[in-house]
Amino acid sequence: MKTPVPDYLASVLARCDANDGGALADYIPELAHADPNKLALALSTIDGEIYSAGDDQYEFSIQSMSKPFAYALALQHHGIEKVLEKVGVEPSGEAFNQISLDSHSNTPKNPMINSGAITTHSLIPAETGELRAEKLRAFLSEMAGRELSFDEEVYQSELKTAYRNLSIGYMLRTVGVLESDPVDIVEGYIRQCAIKVTVKDLARIASVFANGGIDPHTGKCMLDRMVVRQVLSVMISCGMYDAAGDWLTTVGIPAKSGVAGGILGVLPGQVGVAVFSPKLDEHGNSVRGIEIMERLSQDMGLHLMEGTPSAQTIVQGIYYLDEQKQIRVYELRGVLQFTETEMLLRTIQQEPDAPHSIVLDLSHITLIHDVGRRMLLEGIDRLIDDAHEVLVVDPDGLFKAETTDLGHEVKHYANIQAIPH
Ligand code: GLN
Repeated sequence: MKTPVPDYLASVLARCDANDGGALADYIPELAHADPNKLALALSTIDGEIYSAGDDQYEFSIQSMSKPFAYALALQHHGIEKVLEKVGVEPSGEAFNQISLDSHSNTPKNPMINSGAITTHSLIPAETGELRAEKLRAFLSEMAGRELSFDEEVYQSELKTAYRNLSIGYMLRTVGVLESDPVDIVEGYIRQCAIKVTVKDLARIASVFANGGIDPHTGKCMLDRMVVRQVLSVMISCGMYDAAGDWLTTVGIPAKSGVAGGILGVLPGQVGVAVFSPKLDEHGNSVRGIEIMERLSQDMGLHLMEGTPSAQTIVQGIYYLDEQKQIRVYELRGVLQFTETEMLLRTIQQEPDAPHSIVLDLSHITLIHDVGRRMLLEGIDRLIDDAHEVLVVDPDGLFKAETTDLGHEVKHYANIQAIPH
């Protein structure tokens, strides 16, 4: 059996192929020469499986899809509070290149419009615009799993006509949001926009975000969970500029578009997606890209507001390890967030008070959130108070707790066979 997913993606592309609406971006001269017929789609699961269709090897410039990643680097380096002093998180309801500031704070409204993005570019920790763009290129390359490069033609072409972004830069320098030469910063920002990617690269990068900042291919933690959360929140509210509300209701995937024709989407805990088609609507978003994302969202239920309940399946099985029925094993699967841990503790609550051992088998747990850990530790203390012994099977060392809050030792085992009985 071959999975039908690639055929399904190809059929989504075929259905959108006839849509000829929109126009090529013309304010970056080089983009006006793009082939308007190019069409590509890629999807990556959070365990790193990538499906793609259409012109999936075709490289195009990342443009504004670089903005969430520059924001992520700034947040990771300076912390959320510091970055908030420079750039807000409110949807602007304005065009992406509006020359505007928030009237109260005198700072850019959000990091997805150009004024905010030029500011977050300046917060990437490196000395010059060129080095900051390079830092972002290296970061994206690591997540894409290959060395990305810059499109020098697109870069030079945008530089020549960068009047608007330069005026935004000067405005930001005037009010003190930018603290060094605005020309160097705007040039660095334009260079970051010229990083070349394919839809497969983007889907793979997006899957790191969908996976809470952990790269599914390497297991490496690329970003803190809180940073990922912050970036995705801003993507859902501001990523599609003045079409953000329409996007949230019809597609419901935190996303970011770029004027070369790409759209990147991250559905937390589920998938990373990327589409490409160069013709744009009046907001600067890919026309066919939007249609494809709408179909994916509708056909595959990929909408943020269609949360999938997982609490009911957290306890996969309950059994005795020994013939004397003294060791009861709770076999768990999935993630331990609030609702799953609540369900688990409610199930364990029904344990009779007899002094027997309770084993929590975490072998198939993929993630333990902070709240899950705290609730579990509290539950362990209460079980011990009821004269139970509690053992934890945790081959991947996810639980990361040696003692409970009351100082009880948490007994860890690498596998279920290691428990003496
Ligand atoms: N480089 C473009 C700009 O700054 C990116 C805009 C976009 O993709 N929306 O104007």
